[in-house]
Amino acid sequence: LGHKPAAGRKVRLGVMGGTFDPIHHGHLVAASEVAAVFGLDEVVFVPTGEPWQKSHREVSPAEHRYLMTVIATASNPRFTVSRVDIDRPGRTYTIDTLRDLRAARPEAELFFITGADAMAQIVSWKDKDELWALAHFVGVTRPGHVLHNLGRDDVSLLEVPAMAISSTDCRERVAHDHPVWYLVPDGVVQYIAKHRLYRPVTSGAEVPA
Ligand code: ATP
Ligand code: MG
Repeated sequence: LGHKPAAGRKVRLGVMGGTFDPIHHGHLVAASEVAAVFGLDEVVFVPTGEPWQKSHREVSPAEHRYLMTVIATASNPRFTVSRVDIDRPGRTYTIDTLRDLRAARPEAELFFITGADAMAQIVSWKDKDELWALAHFVGVTRPGHVLHNLGRDDVSLLEVPAMAISSTDCRERVAHDHPVWYLVPDGVVQYIAKHRLYRPVTSGAEVPA
């Protein structure tokens, strides 16, 4: 899969990690823009595993998030999807993602793509020195978040066309019966409807008020 680089040149592989609950056009535009500017041969989307600890919200099952990511990226010959994080038990750490991808694709030069909000957290990550060694980091703009480069020259910053879309907003829209057309790819709109994702749970036992 992916494109063959010119002879003698290393494969340049973008890595776009995310919960993708659901994947939306902000993710896709960011990946596409980084690919164009950095001359990437391929961008691999890596949905996170299921959190083992109940966090502040329930994350949709990994298989749904994986399939939506496949649907959203299927038409782009340079976009692929990896199961490394959803097949690895336990919580997803970016260091494990990069180690696994490095092992699977030893020939590739890795470019980790991350939005401004996630970029701000990287400073607090453990093993960050190994992170820098495994991949080049590309921070992209995101409306409502300031982009800091952490003062490192192995971190690049890129302004992408601002897309004020978040998965949180998409989930809330679906829950309130508002459309998500054109915020997420058409196939993802249909997948959400087909599986009734993000709808308030209506258990049969509940008596309507
Ligand atoms: P949630 O609202 O559930 O946190 P999200 O929209 O932030 O979802 P994630 O799956 O958490 O989506 O994000 C994956 C990666 O994509 C992160 O690095 C995030 O910063 C980046 N990203 C998400 N939305 C955008 C956007 N609109 N523009 C640029 N980058 C984005
Ligand atoms: Mg997020």
